[in-house]
Amino acid sequence: MIAVAPPRTGMPPAEHRLAEIFVDRRAIAHNVRYFSWVTQTPVMAVVKADAFGHGDIAEIALANGATWIGVATIPEALRLREQGIAAPILSWLNPVDADWAAATAQQVDVAVTSLEQLYAIAAAAGEAGGTARVHLHLDVGMSRDGAPTEIWSALCESARALEEAGRVRVVGVMGHLSSADDPESAQNDIERLRFVNGVRAAHRRGLTPSELHLAASAGALHRPDSRFTLSRIGAGLYGIDPAGRAELTPALTLTAPVAQLRRVGGGVGVGYGHDYTTVEATTLAVLPLGYGDGLPRAAQGRAEVSIRGHRFPIVGRISMDQVVVDVGNAQLELGDVALVMGPGGRGEPTVREWAAWSGTIEHELVTRLGVRSSRVLRTSDARWAR
Ligand SMILES: *Cc1c(COP(=O)(O)O)cnc(C)c1O
Repeated sequence: MIAVAPPRTGMPPAEHRLAEIFVDRRAIAHNVRYFSWVTQTPVMAVVKADAFGHGDIAEIALANGATWIGVATIPEALRLREQGIAAPILSWLNPVDADWAAATAQQVDVAVTSLEQLYAIAAAAGEAGGTARVHLHLDVGMSRDGAPTEIWSALCESARALEEAGRVRVVGVMGHLSSADDPESAQNDIERLRFVNGVRAAHRRGLTPSELHLAASAGALHRPDSRFTLSRIGAGLYGIDPAGRAELTPALTLTAPVAQLRRVGGGVGVGYGHDYTTVEATTLAVLPLGYGDGLPRAAQGRAEVSIRGHRFPIVGRISMDQVVVDVGNAQLELGDVALVMGPGGRGEPTVREWAAWSGTIEHELVTRLGVRSSRVLRTSDARWAR
């Protein structure tokens, strides 16, 4: 038999041409189970912002023990219902004129942070002839979303009156810690106390919320006293501990094929502004991804990738669509796959390293990666080993 080599066109095969994100379902499953086990409380899987850039993982989370789904906005919740997710869903950040009727009709719980919002929800539910399921959200210290403590009594009282009128049902009371990523901070004690007082005030007004939830990933992991009846887990699902302590399993791997190889001499400027100049003869590899794909431009001068098990520096500026890697005298071929970031088990840079290189947090990095979705292929299994 004669093996016929494919014609070399100078470009890698089409399926290897683009940057790809792989989401390891087993990592998500593992992390959900880990949180259930460690916290001994039910887990709300937070899948806002396209699951922090990880795509459709709600089903995996539910299949592995999560009992609730959390999102920021009602449209996110409705999309999940369309996909057939039947579990309880909570949406906590909506404008006063949000589509409350659709939320009620689709059994989407909503967080309430103001009297105006409460009345708008109740009115929509009344018109639809339904009862809205709400979670009163108390601002325990963030000064961000959540009802200010000054209106808490009035909010509870009005909610109770609307309960008696059959317009709303107060299912939960929630808060969100400002400083849980610093578990020893006394701020956590202060905010927990505010939450407990808020729950007491709700009880005094006759409310009987069954879901009391204060903890997100860091609180659930490191502040057992913040767990109450439910933990809202976002970052942790994807392998990120905001406090940087727990050994979670990162789920995301970003790869890109070597799209071009160029042998150059020493003293050659690379990329915009020639921020980098080669020292001696070397090989430059082009990867077809850049800040348009979510790579942080600020990582210039520090970032590395792994190709064939070796780390090489990204050199020069990170462009919108491409980066240049100085691979020295390594013998590479077009189509070799660079591991840009991942769990780290194959010598590739971790998301945590990239965050340090670019002065941001892991959350921001992974959330931004999915933006140019036309270049991103998601698969359910880890199959980056090529
Ligand atoms: C994003 C968010 C969460 C999830 O937080 P993580 O730290 O990512 O686990 C929980 N609750 C609220 C209100 C949020 O906005």
